[in-house]
Amino acid sequence: MGILDEDVVRVRESADIVAVVSQHTQLRKVGTNWVGLCPFHNEKSGSLSVSQTKGFYYCFGCRASGDVITFVREMEHLDFAGAVEWLAAKAGITLRYTERDEGESRKRQRRLTELMEQAVDWYHRRLLNGTDAGPARGYLRSRGFDRETVEQFRLGWAPDAWDELNRALGAPRDLLVDSGLGLVNRRGRLQDFFRARVLFPIYDDQGNPVAFGGRKLPDADGPKYQNSREGPLYNKSRTLYALNWAKADVVNSAEAIVCEGYTDVIGFFRAGLPRAVATCGTALTEDHVRHLKRFTNRIVLAYDADEAGQAAAERVYEWERRHEIEVSVLGLPAGTDPDELARSDPDALRKAVGEAIPFLGFRVGRVMHGANLATPEGRSRAAEAAIDAIREHPDPLVRDQYLMEVAGWSRSDIDQLRAQLARPARVRAERPTRSARADDDGRVLLAERPTAASVPRESVELEALRILIDRPADIADRLHPTLFREGLTRRAYLAASTAPIHDAVEEAEPAVSDLLTRLAVSEATGRVDDVLVGLALEASKRAMVALQGEARGAADPLDYAPTIQGLKLMSDDLLGDEPSMESLDRLLAWLAEHAVDLGC
Ligand code: ZN
Repeated sequence: MGILDEDVVRVRESADIVAVVSQHTQLRKVGTNWVGLCPFHNEKSGSLSVSQTKGFYYCFGCRASGDVITFVREMEHLDFAGAVEWLAAKAGITLRYTERDEGESRKRQRRLTELMEQAVDWYHRRLLNGTDAGPARGYLRSRGFDRETVEQFRLGWAPDAWDELNRALGAPRDLLVDSGLGLVNRRGRLQDFFRARVLFPIYDDQGNPVAFGGRKLPDADGPKYQNSREGPLYNKSRTLYALNWAKADVVNSAEAIVCEGYTDVIGFFRAGLPRAVATCGTALTEDHVRHLKRFTNRIVLAYDADEAGQAAAERVYEWERRHEIEVSVLGLPAGTDPDELARSDPDALRKAVGEAIPFLGFRVGRVMHGANLATPEGRSRAAEAAIDAIREHPDPLVRDQYLMEVAGWSRSDIDQLRAQLARPARVRAERPTRSARADDDGRVLLAERPTAASVPRESVELEALRILIDRPADIADRLHPTLFREGLTRRAYLAASTAPIHDAVEEAEPAVSDLLTRLAVSEATGRVDDVLVGLALEASKRAMVALQGEARGAADPLDYAPTIQGLKLMSDDLLGDEPSMESLDRLLAWLAEHAVDLGC
């Protein structure tokens, strides 16, 4: 039995979320929203933000979020129907009920898991025994993977065939599709999702298989990695590869090593460090961090040095503060990855893990090693760059420690460096539109919000989504899916652009709901044109990478030259201080037309 949908909507719309929340905590108006101490966690600063117009609350401290119905559920300890009834009684609304069948979903989830287990098995046996798997076995041997490793990680081989797996499993089509094992092609025929790939089964931390990462053989076509699509079993931004195997050692050693790739993880295991996990084709997210925090409070990033250096510093510090964790970075020799080092010099890999350095130390060290310390100008430039990195750290004592180090190697006066640190950050010249905008936003949020430290710096994609939620008429027509990176923000865009915001939040997967709610309670401050320029530049970078990849694989790479050159000219047009709106529209149109084909 349930309450009629339209009555739920009526109750939600008639309730004043600010009035309801105010019964539990004092709210004050800040900008267009209301802010107060969060009733869901203990705090002294106001992390709770409530949007009266949009009807959402979100806590930047503990990430409690929802609409007025969720709030009543949590506060009054009611179920959904109970909360709607509670609100309806206050508003004098009479509810109508409907019969509804519930509870099939658990059963279905179990069937999907069983199907995945069968698939892991089938692929694994194929790798071990299939006559067509010879090249795959050869490839794995060449990477130093012995039979024991292959069995330990249940590696598999997906044959180069249309539907061999699906026929072997013989499950109903909708289950095969929902599990991510099958897909329905344009002709309406069911085919296997993975073809001609070495498969790394991905498990949840309870040990249930939820997805696969598929690697192509070195001389095959296509992208190097292909992962299962997200579905009822699999959420990329929460899943960590190998956590099911690593969790015991993570707890024992009190640290988790986070890598970029499946083979890196296996490398760490083989080097005697079975506490490595990997993100599955995404950056590390807060959900990952929260997940790891259940096992340890020390995270070592084993990324390529450039990638680690570019990890969003503010997010890392924010996670450190909010989840009381410590993030360190593994210093690997340039150009080596953990997988290679595990084979060539496992001792060096173990040593590097023992010597991982704190995130800020790593960033400052990179500035120093990249600098010309032989000249006064070089030292002063390096000191300035190091201060920019140090400034992002929230703890004044930590900042001062690093300043003293910088004073040492740059031969500068510490008081001058402290004065320099107190000045606002320089606007970096190389990426004018985007970084200037992001800095502005950071400061606007700082000025307006009591919870400044807990508001992470947002990307241009998030600002676009915020505008879309806030003032859809201003931007909806100019956005399209390919302006968003594949992943969470694109899914959030698809959700927010196809349904009213409350429906979108309700129907979306948890990560998308969380993001949309957070965006709904923060104000959109960016200018539409600036945001679009930022989006278009990022999307054209992705398109460029895809084009260059296609060109490399083409019979005549020169066929691609005019397209690549044209794209470059269009995006260069947008790099100036005042890019023309004509150039912007031209690039947006080009991306809408081409990016889908390019798969980016
Ligand atoms: Zn809270």
